[in-house]
Amino acid sequence: MQETPFQLFNNEQPMKLATKIIHAGAEPDPSTGAIMTPIYQTSTYVQAAPGQHKGYEYARSQNPTRKALEDALAIIENGKYGLAFSSGVAATDAVIKLLSPGDEVIAANDMYGGTYRLFTKVFEKFGIKFIFVDTTKTSNIEAVITSNTKLIWIETPTNPLMNISDISAIATVAKKAGALLCVDNTFASPYLQNPLDQGADIVMHSATKYLGGHSDVIQGALVINDGSLKDQLHFIQKSCGAVPGPMDCFLVLRGIKTLHVRMQRHCENGAVIAHYLRSHPKVQKVYWPGFEDNAGFAIAKKQMRDFGGMISFTLKDESIEAANKVLSSTKLFSLAESLGGVESLINHPASMTHASIPREERIKNGLADGLMRLSVGIEDANDLIEDLKQAIG
Ligand SMILES: *Cc1c(COP(=O)(O)O)cnc(C)c1O
Repeated sequence: MQETPFQLFNNEQPMKLATKIIHAGAEPDPSTGAIMTPIYQTSTYVQAAPGQHKGYEYARSQNPTRKALEDALAIIENGKYGLAFSSGVAATDAVIKLLSPGDEVIAANDMYGGTYRLFTKVFEKFGIKFIFVDTTKTSNIEAVITSNTKLIWIETPTNPLMNISDISAIATVAKKAGALLCVDNTFASPYLQNPLDQGADIVMHSATKYLGGHSDVIQGALVINDGSLKDQLHFIQKSCGAVPGPMDCFLVLRGIKTLHVRMQRHCENGAVIAHYLRSHPKVQKVYWPGFEDNAGFAIAKKQMRDFGGMISFTLKDESIEAANKVLSSTKLFSLAESLGGVESLINHPASMTHASIPREERIKNGLADGLMRLSVGIEDANDLIEDLKQAIG
């Protein structure tokens, strides 16, 4: 794992993101000079004598392809240590396993449905208490924080309503209470936002999304600065065993190399489509962090470099039938869960990604039955607009 800041030119000038993204974690393979880290498809490593090895004993604990990826993850998130997991929820699972019965977690009331399901259906029965609040107002967190609060879990922008929470303000509240702050940075990606720089303790990613970028792998990641926290999470990673295979690590390493180029186009296309939808006479509301009249705009501007390619919207006709017509008429936007790949997707949170959240909870938190979510890909923006035009009618 990367222990020192990634510097090429003496410390004077920090390396720019685009350069870090290409070179992070990439060392020519020591045995052949291969420029790409090989896929070390092995379960074990031969020792010269008992206990005499090259830092690799058994592949659940260490794998060179995974190590290259973990170093890269640390560098692009401006952290010291990266840990890769077999999925985003496995990374989340590892964070919650830092806790003990009686501990409390304050979590965002608008977040990925699978995270909500893991918290309420798996961990609550082990005596961990989850309190869900609207984290866009930091005072809501302060109102419920107690000496039992050990973790604050936020997503920003949130899935699917693109709400923005103030990472540095929440980090201050967490520190004062002695709680950890974990930010699910999946929607922003390290290209748009680096939560550790704003005071977060742990950054979590579903690498399945923008980091992988090509809809061909399931993977998760954590990035941390604190050495003892890294040791605890690494212990959980190897003890519980939710590690990614070397092929999947290779795919994410390769995906990361074009993160900045893809994200730039995701952002450009996202802006064009958000404005198009907002001007459409049949569209009721567009959720995208880049609108100046959005409640979270000032904070988004402060903590993000751009606004991304995730957009949700509702129609003036709020019926499920009207939404279904759009969902089944798009031709370039494929109807599918997930996001962050090069191709555009359309999703219906109420019946797909967020179906695991009870309807009353969804409605209470502003997730309408007819809400549709777009993961805007990197195709030509005019073609994407033509597709939405014919689908919305
Ligand atoms: C997909 C997703 C997850 C879960 O990650 P998996 O890789 O599917 O396990 C967590 N958070 C967010 C915001 C996601 O979009």
